[in-house]
Amino acid sequence: MAGEPQADCLFCKIVAGDVPATVVRETETTVAFRDINPQAPSHVLVIPRAHYPDAASLAEAEPEIAADVLREAGAVAAQEKVADGGYRVVFNTGSGAGQTVFHAHAHVLGGRGLNWPPG
Ligand code: IMP
Repeated sequence: MAGEPQADCLFCKIVAGDVPATVVRETETTVAFRDINPQAPSHVLVIPRAHYPDAASLAEAEPEIAADVLREAGAVAAQEKVADGGYRVVFNTGSGAGQTVFHAHAHVLGGRGLNWPPG
């Protein structure tokens, strides 16, 4: 069923507490934890507890939870004290764009200068 945990999904395992993660924030619908391979001084992933393969399918099925993810991305930036210097929220979507974990997640990156266009 849509949104249900998937046995083979790494981020569902983090939500369940079966894989350890450095959690920085939690809500009823989301979990935010540090990326294991940080690309900036602050690099946090915000995920919905519900399993959807990418941000677009999450927003289509559960727009309120997609909004929760965006709200939490801002809250993470404030908590990490990177909001004033500018930060980036990224949803890699599809393997061609670098998505490697097919459970929707926002990267929240900050604490250094961020170039545009991205690579
Ligand atoms: P994607 O490439 O946009 O799908 O992002 C997946 C992210 O998950 C990558 O930045 C990885 O470094 C990160 N990642 C993979 N495994 C773990 C983990 O066990 N804990 C925290 N982050 C992870």
